[in-house]
Amino acid sequence: MSFERACEYLDQVSRLREWKAKTGVRVVLTDLDDSPISTAAVFIAQKQKFVEAVAAVVPILNKDEFAAALNKEDQEAHTRWSVDPGRWQTVVENLDRKFSLDGGRICRNRLSIIEDIYRTPPEIKEGALTTLDAFKTAGLRIGTVTHAKEDWTNFKLRFLGLNKYFEHVILAQIDKPKDWESWAVGVERFGVGPEEVLGIGDSIEGDIVAARQAGIRHLIWVPSTWRVNNLGQLPEGTIVVPEGFGKIIERLIEAA
Ligand SMILES: [Mg+2]
Repeated sequence: MSFERACEYLDQVSRLREWKAKTGVRVVLTDLDDSPISTAAVFIAQKQKFVEAVAAVVPILNKDEFAAALNKEDQEAHTRWSVDPGRWQTVVENLDRKFSLDGGRICRNRLSIIEDIYRTPPEIKEGALTTLDAFKTAGLRIGTVTHAKEDWTNFKLRFLGLNKYFEHVILAQIDKPKDWESWAVGVERFGVGPEEVLGIGDSIEGDIVAARQAGIRHLIWVPSTWRVNNLGQLPEGTIVVPEGFGKIIERLIEAA
């Protein structure tokens, strides 16, 4: 970190301390996927690899049409099974059937390419570690409310070295949409009131609206890579940070 950047960081921390004293916020509860880390990029890359792998053995396949069908099947499976990784089995079976690749089980035999999503570490978003460091240095306790299985969550946290930031990791049930209950569990886990919590996430419904339903007043929304996450009505007073997780503290201080 340059001298200039270090001064800027320390200034941010002291202003964050003032903000903390003024608002009474003591805990930061953040979503994980596509908030401080770029999980969507892994999904997009693996889906692309899957399309290429199928096209390599079926040269007559229209790749764009196939990719569109994959996304459509994914959306439909998501509606039924939410983020449960088991849904991919149905997605590949449907694609085999739809494109008459069933005899060769061409998509089914390449399921592991899609499942590599859960074995590929996502990248940390620009400035996200500094943001988490600043929260911690300013004396805020941090937890994550994530919508994913425990083993995949642990893989991401360990690989990216994020464990040290999170005092509590709350897992929302994977076979249904993330809702207010997981945010309420997060608040309860820290033994504070919801008014003492800052909630952060990229999904309007699953994070921001859900956190407000759990009583969390202070909210930050970072617009998502997933179109579906950007649908819905933001609760009043939500601070929007279009630049992403790395700019949260700046926007928080500005808005105060
Ligand atoms: Mg998310």
